[in-house]
Amino acid sequence: MKWINRNDSTQNYEDRRGRGVKRGAAFGGVGVIIIAIIALLLGQNPFQAIDMAGGLTQGGGSEVVDPSRMNENEDLKVFTLGVFNSANDVWTEIFRTQMRESYRNPILVNFTDHTTSACGGASAQVGPFYCPGDERVYIDLNFFHQLARDYGAKGEMAMAYVTAHEVGHHVQHLLGILDQVNQYRGRVSEREFNKLMVKLELQADFFAGLWANQASKLGIIQLEPGDLESAISATTAVGDDTLQKQAMGYTVPDSFTHGTAAQRTYWFRKGYQTGDVRQGDTFNDPSLR
Ligand SMILES: [Zn+2]
Repeated sequence: MKWINRNDSTQNYEDRRGRGVKRGAAFGGVGVIIIAIIALLLGQNPFQAIDMAGGLTQGGGSEVVDPSRMNENEDLKVFTLGVFNSANDVWTEIFRTQMRESYRNPILVNFTDHTTSACGGASAQVGPFYCPGDERVYIDLNFFHQLARDYGAKGEMAMAYVTAHEVGHHVQHLLGILDQVNQYRGRVSEREFNKLMVKLELQADFFAGLWANQASKLGIIQLEPGDLESAISATTAVGDDTLQKQAMGYTVPDSFTHGTAAQRTYWFRKGYQTGDVRQGDTFNDPSLR
């Protein structure tokens, strides 16, 4: 893919690179989450509240600052932020024209090794994740090196797919789909619930494909030969979702699956090729019953 018109705005960006938070430190735990919820109710940035609370409770020294890592993976940051902003631009347009609703931008957080979220503490091992409690997408950029090295998923579209997939979860949050699925937790069998989780993941894959299609139509990117293959190398390889659920504080049954490689590829490709949001109803698709 080639950028035609990249949006480099940092308005919805939070740079925590080189600023890890030690595990088990004063920042963690229920207190932080309550503060974050209160902050959300008051319409503040919950992380400002957390920083404030951290300053108040003291004794801490829990934040580990490493200036040498603050600009780590700068090229990946610029790329990922460009994808993130373009995904928001695409969804703003879709919400406005097709849903007659207004879209609310999430925030992209880049961190190094460890960080906190309204969904709990997170380490780089969990992979990229979306937290509905604070409407943030969390990505340790070193994940992309791992993706290429350990999973053979190379190329820009593979990285773009991951980012657009996480924004897809935000869209599901705004549309109330995450909440609806969550209401079934504990009320249907584990097997049935897992099926719903798979549908969530496949829809986020569809939304990622849809992003590529629409970003190209809006003149933000230009698709090139090999892009679809690059994305598919990731859809067939990425197994981040199991770990994501752990980061979100959900229990993950052993039988959990995020859809087969073929299913993930099918739904990404469908979004990529149709660009039509109405084609993405994985919840009523006969093949997924
Ligand atoms: Zn996911």
